[in-house]
Amino acid sequence: MRIYNTKTRKVEEFVPHEEGKAKVYTCGPTVYHFAHIGNLRTYICEDILVRGLAYEGYDVKRVMNITDVGHLSSDADTGEDKMLKGAKREHKTVMEIADFYTRAFFTDFNALNMRMPEVVEPATHCIDDFIHMIEVLLEKGYAYKAGDNVYFDTSKPESYYTLSKQNEEELMVGVRDDVDEDTNKRNKSDFVLWFTKSKFEDQELKWESPWGLGYPGWHIECSCIGIKHLGEYMDIHCGGVDNIFPHHTNEIAQSEAYLGHPWCRYWFHVHHLVDKGGKMSKSAGGFLTVSSLVEKGYDPLAYRYFCLQSHYRKPLEFSWDVLEQMSNAYTKLKKRCLELKADGEVDETAFAEQRKKFAEAIGDDINTSMAFTVLYDVLKSELNDATKRKLVESFDEVLALKLLEEAEEESVDDDLKAFVEAKIEERRQAKAAKDFVRADAIRDELAAKGIVIKDTREGVKWEKA
Ligand code: AMP
Ligand code: ZN
Repeated sequence: MRIYNTKTRKVEEFVPHEEGKAKVYTCGPTVYHFAHIGNLRTYICEDILVRGLAYEGYDVKRVMNITDVGHLSSDADTGEDKMLKGAKREHKTVMEIADFYTRAFFTDFNALNMRMPEVVEPATHCIDDFIHMIEVLLEKGYAYKAGDNVYFDTSKPESYYTLSKQNEEELMVGVRDDVDEDTNKRNKSDFVLWFTKSKFEDQELKWESPWGLGYPGWHIECSCIGIKHLGEYMDIHCGGVDNIFPHHTNEIAQSEAYLGHPWCRYWFHVHHLVDKGGKMSKSAGGFLTVSSLVEKGYDPLAYRYFCLQSHYRKPLEFSWDVLEQMSNAYTKLKKRCLELKADGEVDETAFAEQRKKFAEAIGDDINTSMAFTVLYDVLKSELNDATKRKLVESFDEVLALKLLEEAEEESVDDDLKAFVEAKIEERRQAKAAKDFVRADAIRDELAAKGIVIKDTREGVKWEKA
């Protein structure tokens, strides 16, 4: 497996810290609103990465946090806590908001057929761990108290901008918009580890700490939750490109300061989903969700198919027209796969050869479009159906498009089902008795109720029109 590493700016061979294991961390959602399809693009690409690692035989352990405290409106520790913003918007408590949107997130996660992370940990469950880490950072001289907050001193690590290669000048441009510039900071790039003196007196969630009643900064949660569940060495850390700075840059600084050695080797970043208005974002409002797609009649997996047609390191532009084309292509592909018969003998040599080709495509920095070329070539090939079917099944372990699963029947109530089945049986008997007038009348009776029946080789099938 070769992946692009933001840290070295190169495509590198994946060598895990512990042989055969892949320890992966994912920045989870900030649960103050629904995830938009841009957020979900990031998770879909990460899903392919972890499924790809498992396909190569790695024992994958993936950890995801849930940001339910401390992520302020600006990534640079200014503005209101996003969770509080969500709670005010909906006249609910922060925990009600967190609970509702965490559930909504995993409903979308499932609808897009993503592999559940082995560990999901909300930030609010780990406050003691954060406090411990901050105490160590203070002891080691990497953190300082000022104006009743605790800050990380970014001038202390040997090199702070290990990921972003941002320089002071670029950063100055970034902070110019910071109307609330924090005068407690020793350096402009310093960030808050623990807030006690909040500008927002109505901050709902606060905990006792050695520095007074307060709440954690956003970045500490990912370092802490990552180390808690994956140990001192992490293999791959994932997120969207907007996380590179300041979030991941800060995570590296504080984790390595705390551990006293390098922490995570590979940094995997997914580019943004954009639309005509630019980057899709929750704060900008007017964003699209999985429900927006379903309301327009699209299968969420058609969106997954759409995302997989382009490389994760390129921005992806969303439009309804392209989604329509992708949805048609997905339906066609699925139909083709479902037509493959299971009988016959699998050509094991061809299977191994094609599986290898597919794994190479995924292993080539997650080249999903190449992986689809392998799939379409297999479907077009002279191989028998049984071999093709086994290959599709295998490829779908990574693509996860449910290519061999019949579409779930729309929930039909049991009474209707029993009625239609009785009518079909009545029609069968009428036909057997050569009473074709009666048989046709039954067909018409069903049609009048919106039920279409089809005579197929496998017997009579029916569906709602
Ligand atoms: P959030 O819920 O805002 O913390 O973001 C969850 C994930 O979505 C993070 O990894 C972000 O980097 C990522 N993300 C945010 N906006 C976009 C976008 N427009 N396209 C792709 N990923 C995004
Ligand atoms: Zn994070």
